[in-house]
Amino acid sequence: MHAQFAPMDHSLDFATMDAARLARDPAFDGLFFIAVKTTGIYCRPVCRVRPPLARNISFFPSAAACERAGYRPCLKCRPESAPFCPAWNGTRTTVERACRLIDEGALDGEGTVERLASRCGVGPRHLGRLFRQHLGASPIEVAQTRRVQRAMQLIARTDLAMIEIAHQSGFSSLRRFNEVIAARYGRSPTALRAVRPHNVT
Ligand SMILES: [Zn+2]
Repeated sequence: MHAQFAPMDHSLDFATMDAARLARDPAFDGLFFIAVKTTGIYCRPVCRVRPPLARNISFFPSAAACERAGYRPCLKCRPESAPFCPAWNGTRTTVERACRLIDEGALDGEGTVERLASRCGVGPRHLGRLFRQHLGASPIEVAQTRRVQRAMQLIARTDLAMIEIAHQSGFSSLRRFNEVIAARYGRSPTALRAVRPHNVT
């Protein structure tokens, strides 16, 4: 784990975030994520699991940043599907636009960061810097997290075959899909479907 890698790009301090998570305050959902050092799991502020001790946690600005630091998403609160930084304002429109394009599949298949950046009117290095600053993760990492998010929703809500889910979620192959899911959740897509996690909201 690289707990020190957590550039929070807003004015929330530790005490505020700590109070918000203990209160399970939905106003903070998507604004930060809680990574638990003792379990290697990360959660949303609204998670119903018993809150871990403050000394065991780190705060991160995005699900992708938690993933980057080696944490796995909680199966109870499904942090990879949390609302995406609702407090963002106009100064971050480039990142917002890039995230929308990533949602639409701009980095799936043949998509490249270079092409994505040019669609946003910036260079790829500048886009990388903006992502690092606002999300604590690269465009590629954000795209991977979104792919996993789409896949987890399809696993939980449909009976589609796994190969179809892999395809619809933007993975290049069933094998890649299986690898990524196993690395993130420590179990196979089929085993995750058996869990059928319920939403916290
Ligand atoms: Zn959780």
